[in-house]
Amino acid sequence: MTHTTHHRTLGGLSVLISGASVAGPALALNLARRGARVTVVERAPDLRAGGFAVDFRGPVHRTVLTSMGIWDEIHARQTRMGRQVVVDAHGSPKVDLPSLMMSGDVEILRGDLAHLLYERTREHVEYVFGDSVATLTDDGDGVDVTFERGAPRRFDLVIGADGLHSRTRGLVFGDESRHLRFLGHYVAGFDVPNPLGLDRTGRLYSEPGRAVSIGNYDGDPHRAGALLVFRSERLTHDRRDTGAHKRVLAERFAGMGWETPAVLEALASTDRLYFDAIAQVHVDRLTLGRVALVGDAGYGATMGGMGTGAAVVGAHVLAGELALAGGDHRTAFAEYEARIRDFARGCQKVSGNVGPFFAPPTERRIRSRDRMYRLLASRPLAGFFKRLTERAASGIRLREYPA
Ligand SMILES: Cc1cc2nc3c(=O)[nH]c(=O)nc-3n(C[C@H](O)[C@H](O)[C@H](O)COP(=O)(O)OP(=O)(O)OC[C@H]3O[C@@H](n4cnc5c(N)ncnc54)[C@H](O)[C@@H]3O)c2cc1C
Repeated sequence: MTHTTHHRTLGGLSVLISGASVAGPALALNLARRGARVTVVERAPDLRAGGFAVDFRGPVHRTVLTSMGIWDEIHARQTRMGRQVVVDAHGSPKVDLPSLMMSGDVEILRGDLAHLLYERTREHVEYVFGDSVATLTDDGDGVDVTFERGAPRRFDLVIGADGLHSRTRGLVFGDESRHLRFLGHYVAGFDVPNPLGLDRTGRLYSEPGRAVSIGNYDGDPHRAGALLVFRSERLTHDRRDTGAHKRVLAERFAGMGWETPAVLEALASTDRLYFDAIAQVHVDRLTLGRVALVGDAGYGATMGGMGTGAAVVGAHVLAGELALAGGDHRTAFAEYEARIRDFARGCQKVSGNVGPFFAPPTERRIRSRDRMYRLLASRPLAGFFKRLTERAASGIRLREYPA
């Protein structure tokens, strides 16, 4: 009896997780409740707010979120987003995108989800903000970690949950130029003062190679989220230079019609800008020695509705396999790799077309997108579309894991 109990808990295992957005705190929750000693280090000075709505769909997401004990709370904080409408330059509707298609079974703001996971774990998990891993040395028995600010420490395992541009991945698996597949578009997100007075609906306006979307997710009459997508060659600016991002956006969206001037005015004064390449992460392996990757760091896809679900499922499987293996990372990491790889790839496939969806390259392509979505929005094709995304989101057979 004692033997089994010992093998099924993670008591004493010390784990460092890099990144406190979705994957990091989700993994921390799954590990800490099984007795692991978990530290999460996040580069930002505090939990980052903002970001767009992310959604969950299908039975696998439901099982995972239920087992984490956050299914009800996600519903309590869901956006209840209604229709998203493609409009012309005058704001007249061209196509309705049903919420079923855009928002999954349940949708929540990324910042709200991160906050919920943080609140659930903060008493049992050590959070260190404003710092980052600097070096990792795995000597086979543990990992020596130095930080940019804090004192060096040693952990049994280190997990990279630090997103598309993961520092952990860079340190252990090589430069990101080898792993990040650029998909020819950039995306920016920030808050605007709800210029259209939207109430839980969204509008999308496209011109060749660029698109502006405005969505009100929470019914706040004074605030909405703007999402800008543009087609581009790879930019060479500093990834963390917000001033440079603002200049690029102002330039690329100059002269664009519809509500764009109001959106650009809000951009000039925002202090919370999300800006990134639309890209996918493809690595040969997700684990090496005592280090593993979870979420966007290992199988990210910037946007497209599948990244957050994949991150949460990945966290569930990684922690579950560690518990099943009684903390033996060799067995657990091999199982995690084998179980998550095809699933993650399937999720990335569904997300691959998001740039051209928002910002088709020509007027003709814009018209054919509109035609296609008019068809897709009609029954029974809407059902087909739902099944397609649900199949990817559910493309993994979950094992029973010790609680
Ligand atoms: C502020 C923000 C806004 C976002 N907005 C959108 C959006 O509008 N649309 C969209 O599709 N996706 C967005 N994303 C990405 C989305 O959250 C992910 O695709 C998905 O939820 C998977 O999350 P993740 O936890 O694996 O990675 P991410 O959400 O990217 O989180 C990575 C975390 O690691 C931290 N980090 C990075 N480097 C280091 C380091 N060296 N040391 C410590 N910590 C580090 C980051 O600050 C971040 O908190 C956003 C992410 C963030 C952080």
